[in-house]
Amino acid sequence: MKTIRITFICCTVVFICSSCNKDVESVEAQFQLVDQELWTHYSAFELEAEKRGFDFNLNALQISGRIEEIPEENVAGSCLFGSHIHNEVTIDREFWNRSSPLLREFVVFHELGHCVLLRDHDESFDSQGRCLSIMRSGLSQCRDAYSHHTRDQLIDELFFQR
Ligand SMILES: [Zn+2]
Repeated sequence: MKTIRITFICCTVVFICSSCNKDVESVEAQFQLVDQELWTHYSAFELEAEKRGFDFNLNALQISGRIEEIPEENVAGSCLFGSHIHNEVTIDREFWNRSSPLLREFVVFHELGHCVLLRDHDESFDSQGRCLSIMRSGLSQCRDAYSHHTRDQLIDELFFQR
């Protein structure tokens, strides 16, 4: 008898809390499952997709996004996906803190390339050794060339591949 009563009280508390959260989130959240610091880049990804004729709603796709410590060395971000989980993007906190907005975008777009576009790595490079894809693994020999100058071209490659 006692157990049943305790369970019931717990359920009520959970219900009240979750409805409060919903009210708060609906006021300002653009991406409910995403850390606010990542919103600009999630929006930019949707915008760049739209410019190229694609319609990706990262909320509807339930792509989450977190900035937290990734324990493995030299890993700036990860995308976790599978049949039982929604796609989860994680960006390393230390990488985030020391990186420019452009470099942050590069890594967020790379992870969304895995999680949303379901792309694998692509290590192609040009005659000067520059990576031809945002989807390079970072483990190959090619040199990153993501800049304001190359951004459009590399985002074209991200959505259309070669
Ligand atoms: Zn990757």
